[in-house]
Amino acid sequence: MKTEHSMQLFTDARTLIPGGVNSPVRACRAVGTDPLFVAEASGCTITDVDGNRFVDFVGSWGPMIVGHAHPEVVEAIRSTAGRGTSFGAPSPLEIDLAAEVCAAVPSLEKVRFVNSGTEATMSAVRLARGYTGRKMVVKFDGCYHGHADSFLVKAGSGLITLGIPGSPGVPDDIVKNTISIPYNDEAVLDATLRNPELDIACVIVEPVAGNMGVVPPSETFLQKLRQLTSELGIVLIFDEVITGFRLALGGAQEYFDVTPDLTCLGKIIGGGLPVGAYGGRSDIMDLIAPEGPVYQAGTLSGNPLAMAAGLATLGIVKQPGFYKELEEKSEWFGNALNAVAASLSVPVVLNRVGSMMTCFFTPDPVTDFQSASHAETDLYGEYYRQMRSQGIWLAPSQFEALFVSAAHERKHLEKALVAAESSFKKLMK
Ligand SMILES: *Cc1c(COP(=O)(O)O)cnc(C)c1O
Repeated sequence: MKTEHSMQLFTDARTLIPGGVNSPVRACRAVGTDPLFVAEASGCTITDVDGNRFVDFVGSWGPMIVGHAHPEVVEAIRSTAGRGTSFGAPSPLEIDLAAEVCAAVPSLEKVRFVNSGTEATMSAVRLARGYTGRKMVVKFDGCYHGHADSFLVKAGSGLITLGIPGSPGVPDDIVKNTISIPYNDEAVLDATLRNPELDIACVIVEPVAGNMGVVPPSETFLQKLRQLTSELGIVLIFDEVITGFRLALGGAQEYFDVTPDLTCLGKIIGGGLPVGAYGGRSDIMDLIAPEGPVYQAGTLSGNPLAMAAGLATLGIVKQPGFYKELEEKSEWFGNALNAVAASLSVPVVLNRVGSMMTCFFTPDPVTDFQSASHAETDLYGEYYRQMRSQGIWLAPSQFEALFVSAAHERKHLEKALVAAESSFKKLMK
């Protein structure tokens, strides 16, 4: 595979942009290689600047559930752009998207749009603190909620990938208000939330963890979380930035039938443009300025291009049978991948919920951060490089999800299985 143009661009990029990338995991360091620069993408295919084509299972880390450059999404952006790209004043598309989102997600009565998942979680925590008058935030080890200061404690995504527990630049004074506890551990959860010394405002959780690799909640974890937080007057925040519009139209809260107080959204609702949102019960949401005293603002929030791309994307995913078909395809692919690994006795565990999955290079069940970190990242790195050389575009980290989209057809999945078989064989040598 020729990579000379990507290599040259990476060299140039590194002189101008830290690490040559605008988000750390993209640099591919954890998988022992350099990034390929993308020229264009369409459907589930990515083409790099050297003309190599790949079947994409990253989907821009989640947003591209209907595939890249979907004609309806592109047309929505194009026609909206011609009428102006930002007004700094309300415009009708914001109401249209808010109505769609509130109709789809069970717990949302009101929603506020922001520009990224990071902004959504950061604002939701501020709101939870404003609402309760309490201080402490409880999160779970290995979950990632964007890069705001309060969340950079035992966080997932790039922080696990790079092996950093927290981050310099985040004052201890801030971190001491965040408690991180193990995912899926109801005993620790119970003891923490009932601790009278802790002044807990909210618990924030990925209802299916996607940022330590995919880790599903245990049978009772989310119910227990709901029951405890209700009893103790703690705000329960579902960070559905990945799972929203991914697992079902109503996200994980519909899929598992558990209703949070606040929900954070991102990724899919922007249809590939920068959008985040947070929403929930009206009595909480009405504390936000200008209705209430909790401040949150944004120059480009509710941006017409982003609203249009989100609306077009939601228009596609809400068609009857969309999630059923995605589930069937993902189940078929997950089972087939498992069968390939089993036939070659490769010690892997495949965690899958709907169209998000992770193949962990460990023989033992992965149920939390601790067990995820037993995965052999060197093996994953080799697997990644083998797959990439055979035209399969995976996340350049063991601790991320593989996403199946509506654009993947049987032939694309079969190509990935053939590549996986040959990659596994090389690994087992
Ligand atoms: C991606 C992600 C975020 C952060 O969203 P950005 O748009 O990258 O700021 C927050 N929470 C979860 C669960 C995510 O996967």
